[in-house]
Amino acid sequence: RLRNAAAVGEELLRYFADLRGLSEEDLDDLRRETYLALASTNMALDSPRRAIGYLNPNPNPHPNPNPKTEPQPMVEYEFGGPAGAVGVMVGLPLVIYGLYFACGADTCATELGALGRVTEGLTGDFGGLYSAYAMGLFMMWMAGQVVLERILPGEAALGVELKDKSRLSYVLSGHLQFWATLAVLLFGAVEYADADGDLRFIKFTSLPLSLIYDHYLGLITASVIFSFGLSTYLYATSLTKPMVKLADGGQTGNVVYDFFIGRELNPRIFDFDLKVFCELRPGLIGWAVINLGCAFKQYENLGYLTAPMLLVNLFQGLYVWDALYYERAILTTMDVTTDGFGFMLAFGDLAWVPFTYSLQARYLVDHDPGLSSAALLCIVLLKVVGYTIFRGANSQKDAFRRDPNSTTVAHLKTMDTKRGRKLLISGWWGVARKINYTGDWLMGLSWCLLCGFDTIIPYFYAIYFGVLLVHRAIRDDHMCGQKYGDDWAKYKAHVPYAFIPYVF
Ligand code: NDP
Repeated sequence: RLRNAAAVGEELLRYFADLRGLSEEDLDDLRRETYLALASTNMALDSPRRAIGYLNPNPNPHPNPNPKTEPQPMVEYEFGGPAGAVGVMVGLPLVIYGLYFACGADTCATELGALGRVTEGLTGDFGGLYSAYAMGLFMMWMAGQVVLERILPGEAALGVELKDKSRLSYVLSGHLQFWATLAVLLFGAVEYADADGDLRFIKFTSLPLSLIYDHYLGLITASVIFSFGLSTYLYATSLTKPMVKLADGGQTGNVVYDFFIGRELNPRIFDFDLKVFCELRPGLIGWAVINLGCAFKQYENLGYLTAPMLLVNLFQGLYVWDALYYERAILTTMDVTTDGFGFMLAFGDLAWVPFTYSLQARYLVDHDPGLSSAALLCIVLLKVVGYTIFRGANSQKDAFRRDPNSTTVAHLKTMDTKRGRKLLISGWWGVARKINYTGDWLMGLSWCLLCGFDTIIPYFYAIYFGVLLVHRAIRDDHMCGQKYGDDWAKYKAHVPYAFIPYVF
């Protein structure tokens, strides 16, 4: 760590000396002064980002005009800094519980009524939130997913180049794990059936999946507890890791913020990659399985499945399948290449995704929106349009990034950049800069529409996801502005709209 800190410090000093045109002599003075200051505050060891702030608190041509004045460290916070992080860590679990209590078996409340039901639910029977049985189910699920990840074979793939120029290797077995999980759940129970007295048949049948619906509340609590536990483990172990393994955004030195945003980029236990595992497997497959549990419950109640329940399982199942089929793409996403693994991702993957994204299926267990065949047809069309845009755009960029000369993308117009990386300016990426997000959102809207118009609560996904995608687009725009410099502005002139051409 000391060697790292010294190297970073020297690099920064030379950078600023160049920037300000300092002589070697001035640079020596600056070095002496800076190291004294850094040593006294111990900042260089904790965070190079704070060190940058220390060295360059404002664009002043003189290094430190008044040494007695303590310069303010510059820390780049997202999500509203430590206060925002606390808000998210308290608020998001409450939203999951809120949705559960607002939308129950007897009624799905309107907006105002929901508030009363939520407060009642959270304060009425506090002990009811936790159940050891549900905790056991959740832990068995997690253990089962780890075992499958460990034993299933898959193609080997390398991640992007890391700061130390190394690349981590991954086994792409997520798609197989999706089908293996479904096979175990649907055919994993063994029954002996008597035929004519002594002949015995073995029947492979499904596990009692409606249990998921019955223990939904306890499962939410289990996932929240597990996410906090995992985040604590991740934070504690990250403190022993060298700086080169940490994410840039997770080294502010503020414990609460770093715990939330995540310090270590790719935490691993031997070759078991905790972040990539959580991103795609237990939470995402878990979401599809919760939906299946809701379908089982509806079948148990009614003796048949309604069309919206069938469609929501198919639509969302397709979304989960798609993510796992194109598993390789996760290795180049912002989550994997840039963000540290902390509460934000752990909670998002393991609690938020499965328990808020399955709201429509849970709603449909007890409510029939009575949609006409024409309405259902329109919803199917919307889903098809959304999926076509989403898959078309994502596949086009993936193919282009992997091999710009491949036959599928060689005909597209591109723009050169000083960074040496080309940008697509025709095809899907010429229509709008975040056209893939638009397709994704349209699919989400089609899921919500399956719940009809009796209440706005099942539309939570479309509203929340719209906000998430706009925020994510702003974050990515900011990062691309930093990566590509002036070229990014030129690219934006070529493709002026973010989501919908001529509108937004
Ligand atoms: P993108 O797939 O949009 O990737 C953004 C990156 O693509 C940029 O940083 C840039 O990186 C590259 N890029 C941008 N414009 C161009 C261009 N014109 N030509 C070539 N490369 C370009 O972002 P995400 O990783 O956020 O999203 C991936 C998918 O996942 C999306 O479809 C999104 O909807 C979905 N998603 C779903 C979520 C959910 O909860 N359901 C949550 C988050 C995402 P560089 O140039 O360095 O390669």
